[in-house]
Amino acid sequence: MIEKNKFSLLGRDMAVDLGTANTLVYVRGRGIVLSEPSVVAIDDRDGKVYAVGAQAKQMIGRTPSNIRAIRPLRDGVIADFEVCEKMLRYFIHRVHQRRFAKPRMIICVPSGITGVEQRAVMEAAEFAGARKAYIIEEPMAAAIGAGLPINEPTGNMVVDIGGGTTEVAVISLGGIVNSASIRVGGDELDEAIITFVKKEFQLALGERTAEEIKIQMGSAYPLQEEMKAQIRGRDLVTGLPKTVVISTEQIRQAIEEPVQAIIDAVKSTLDRTPPELSSDLMEQGIVLTGGGALLNGLATRLQVETNMPIVVADDPLNCVAMGSGMCLENLEVFERMLKTTPSR
Ligand code: ADP
Ligand code: MG
Repeated sequence: MIEKNKFSLLGRDMAVDLGTANTLVYVRGRGIVLSEPSVVAIDDRDGKVYAVGAQAKQMIGRTPSNIRAIRPLRDGVIADFEVCEKMLRYFIHRVHQRRFAKPRMIICVPSGITGVEQRAVMEAAEFAGARKAYIIEEPMAAAIGAGLPINEPTGNMVVDIGGGTTEVAVISLGGIVNSASIRVGGDELDEAIITFVKKEFQLALGERTAEEIKIQMGSAYPLQEEMKAQIRGRDLVTGLPKTVVISTEQIRQAIEEPVQAIIDAVKSTLDRTPPELSSDLMEQGIVLTGGGALLNGLATRLQVETNMPIVVADDPLNCVAMGSGMCLENLEVFERMLKTTPSR
């Protein structure tokens, strides 16, 4: 009863997965309450926010000259800090309606962002109403969310494939033993499809269309049944709309280079893993999280190339938010693993 009272006084603590493609918010005691694309549409005439999230993503490639649809965390770094802060505040306000209550907040950011940027994100969270803000490392959150026994003296490998980055980490005894972070993720696959289609068919595709093609037809390993589909874009020669037929083999070929870069990042991390932990991994397998883990055939391809068992986490798009949320639910236990600003 007392616990409940304390709760309502302090407001609901929350965890935010500030991803390059999607932002998720987890509220203590409730779970994931918000999941939206990390996109903001800004009206350049007055600098005001025109739309945020799914609504803003719809506008990518469709805006009039005065409106810009921005992805503030584009390549795993904060490309536009001001817009990033606006987005964070917008999402927090949407979830956190009780203005008097000051929640604690855990924020998970791509590991490529600098210490200065991490501080700035924590400050933005405090500005948006947090009493205290913490930063959690992304691979750690992903591993916890995927249900790995990170505190045991055994090796766990997690590969989180997001929009802008892929993070590979070996975790044991609650700490990261070794890791790699590359700026290749789902966006890179979309871009590879755009480049391929331009070269092969003289057809211009928007990034939204390229992403849809990747999700529906992309693969990293030969399919049991290869398919063909019509895709639509703008003819680069005539400037008119045009439809062409593309096969799943062609799309696989188009994305081969970034797919290989992801696989190489996993292999090189395995290479640098101490032998005891390597043999643990042999047994436990490698866990894939993030939206990129859903790419058809990626698990099989990784298994063939590394000779390790590969597991795609349940609900890979939610792992980081769930892991950050689990930290929040047990903040007393996890607090020492998190970075924070001085208490006020
Ligand atoms: P981030 O953490 O960087 O925000 P997410 O983990 O949310 O990224 O993953 C987003 C990426 O996953 C996008 O590039 C998206 O296109 C990709 N993605 C989502 N679903 C699929 C799918 N079924 N197949 C391949 N890629 C997918
Ligand atoms: Mg992520």
